[in-house]
Amino acid sequence: MLIIDGKKVSSDLKNELKVRVDLHRTETGKVPGLTVIIVGEDPASQVYVRNKAKSCKETGMNSTVIEMPASTTQEVLLAAIEKLNNDPDVHGILVQQPLPKQIDEFAVTLAIDPAKDVDGFHPENLGRLVMGHLDKCFVSCTPYGILELLGRYNIETKGKHCVVVGRSNIVGKPMANLMLQKLDETNCTVTICHSATRDIPSYTRQADILIAAIGKAGFITADMVKPGAVVIDVGINRIDDPSTKSGSRLVGDVDYEGVSAFASAMTPVPGGVGPMTIAMLLKNTLQSFERANSLQ
Ligand code: NDP
Repeated sequence: MLIIDGKKVSSDLKNELKVRVDLHRTETGKVPGLTVIIVGEDPASQVYVRNKAKSCKETGMNSTVIEMPASTTQEVLLAAIEKLNNDPDVHGILVQQPLPKQIDEFAVTLAIDPAKDVDGFHPENLGRLVMGHLDKCFVSCTPYGILELLGRYNIETKGKHCVVVGRSNIVGKPMANLMLQKLDETNCTVTICHSATRDIPSYTRQADILIAAIGKAGFITADMVKPGAVVIDVGINRIDDPSTKSGSRLVGDVDYEGVSAFASAMTPVPGGVGPMTIAMLLKNTLQSFERANSLQ
């Protein structure tokens, strides 16, 4: 079985992005800039934000983190976003989720200028993706990373049956829509399953490409997978494991041990889809910079 190594691909991609960033710096004296806003002190969010800022710097881009207290009102947050929308040195704006409950996440998504929405969450970007205008939108980072993995591993997709389990706005829906597009890396027949789907195994067993984005540890078991399927595991779940130093470890939505006996290719957790998400955020930020400076 082929292990789809997201850690390696993301590292290769970041090196490629750095070459382009360095070239732009030499030619224009400017570099892409990403600003991340974090509201409150959620420890997991703080780790994500730190990792994003670190990766940004590694590729030579500017990175700014704006920390706001958990008591921040929606009005104050929207005003901060508006300021960034108008700042020509900011090419990507990301507001780390989850947000405190007094803030409407959708209002925040709508407030970000679609041209700087490097998360690809704005309805304008999602709408353009659905219509197949991928060169004129930002594709949300996790599905975009999966597309990159499929492409770099030359996984044949045209005419294949892709089953996506999960229909969130940030993973499942954009993923399914991407797989449906008439692109070299996609062009699939697509089925989407969710919590109200009856008899999920009857669908997953038909999948040539199975993408699990559920958020439930080990949900996809060996009996749910067709022999030879390509299995992409988006899930990140922490489970108890007394044998580790921390007492817990990360696993995906797929029972890796069981399914790897049947799959032809698979992403591990960790080290599969996860590292690609940050790499694609950087790619989107660079793309935003290139669009803003007519460098494409
Ligand atoms: P959400 O919770 O927003 O969505 C989960 C989806 O799974 C929903 O559509 C839900 O269905 C469906 N679902 C839940 N339970 C079942 C069930 N028993 N049977 C069938 N479908 C079910 O999660 P996300 O999409 O944001 O994330 C999914 C997973 O991916 C999580 O583990 C998350 O941590 C991980 N993730 C990983 C990323 C990475 O970089 N690798 C990035 C983003 C997420 P319904 O709509 O009916 O409720």
